[in-house]
Amino acid sequence: MVQDNKLVPPPLKNDCFALPADTHWTPVSEALKRLEERLHVCVPVEQVALSEGLGRILAQDVVAQRSNPPQPNSAVDGYGLNHADIVDGAQSLPLVEGRSAAGEPFEGAVPAGHAVRILTGATIPEGVDTVILQEDVSTDGTAIAFHGPLKKAANTRKAGEDVASGDVILPKGRQVTPADLALIAATGCSGLSVYARLRVAVISTGDELAEAGSEAREDQIFDANRPMLLGMITQFGFTPVDMGRAPDDREALKNFLDQAAEQADMILTSGGASAGDEDHMSALLNETGSMTLWRLAIKPGRPLALGVWNGTPVFGLPGNPVAAMVCTLIFAKPAMSALAGAGWKASEPIWVPAAFEKDKKAGRREYLRARLVAGRAEVFKSEGSGRISGLSWAEGLVELPDEAMQVGEDTLVAYYPYAAFGL
Ligand code: AMP
Ligand code: MG
Repeated sequence: MVQDNKLVPPPLKNDCFALPADTHWTPVSEALKRLEERLHVCVPVEQVALSEGLGRILAQDVVAQRSNPPQPNSAVDGYGLNHADIVDGAQSLPLVEGRSAAGEPFEGAVPAGHAVRILTGATIPEGVDTVILQEDVSTDGTAIAFHGPLKKAANTRKAGEDVASGDVILPKGRQVTPADLALIAATGCSGLSVYARLRVAVISTGDELAEAGSEAREDQIFDANRPMLLGMITQFGFTPVDMGRAPDDREALKNFLDQAAEQADMILTSGGASAGDEDHMSALLNETGSMTLWRLAIKPGRPLALGVWNGTPVFGLPGNPVAAMVCTLIFAKPAMSALAGAGWKASEPIWVPAAFEKDKKAGRREYLRARLVAGRAEVFKSEGSGRISGLSWAEGLVELPDEAMQVGEDTLVAYYPYAAFGL
């Protein structure tokens, strides 16, 4: 589909999160496959200047407008000459008047049997095809003496040897990095066609929650998920929309969802996602007929309430902060990427020796808070999913497969640094 500016793709189908009726515990890979199949870009295209391009997702391939380098130039400070003039052994060549410097090229042609002073980045003048390093010559300012042979085209850069004009330098869907900005700039591109930043609303639910930094009753806990989720969204390069805390009340929650669906392209909620008395998020999504409670074969995590509210996808994350973070990294992040136009992105683990022991049972995939010490993965001392300190202690996650696994010291395990998820 061709996308014009301001043309918004169709919303997700209401039943896009449906699972087959007989599904019991859905394996992680199965859940990811379903999300990948059903989520598509949901934001319009806009034009931005190069200076606004960092972190944006390209809505079109970027094509080089000119070659890099645009003309042949010198890779070193030295002397330009014609390779046909060079013989083996000691020799000398007279120097022409003038020089070729970067931004100040030599005018005219260098006659046969002559050399010219040339500096790094300077255009190679006509009559020159090879450059000799200044360290390899002696000179009195009127001639140079040196030893042959020289390799033809030594110390020169060919026009377009890096990028040729017309080459696709970056593909649609790419999230622009600082290095990409260098490439875009060098090849003469300016305006970029990008997807509007995905806006992701965050709602915390639960009567027990107090605002961080406020006075809290003894029986309350501070809302820890919201600052974490808003922070993750920012680091992913999307726009966080803070909707605040919703009470465990169906009507109130409905209002929160209405507002969020207006202001954002995707909604993340935490808490109330299971099927208990106070699990209003799953109850509400259920009422719309769009909700599927995905009972995932994952630890930590398990219930993920997925639904569509007024056309906006809702990820109802578990309330436990550890489960909320893991489910965001494993499920919500790739979903956000797909909605934002970056396509489905599976994170790549690195395989490292374990610095822990664990007898893992079959039946669900497990994520352990981990970090690397001297190249080996250490895991947090407790697997409790309310242990926020472990999230902060960790620098990544170890993934243990759905199957049983006996992990001993130095068993290879899959480790995902937080950076692998875009954090
Ligand atoms: P729930 O999924 O609502 O049953 O919550 C599971 C656990 O997570 C409970 O202990 C909640 O108090 C806790 N929890 C829910 N939301 C948050 C939050 N925003 N910050 C910290 N803990 C939370
Ligand atoms: Mg709750």
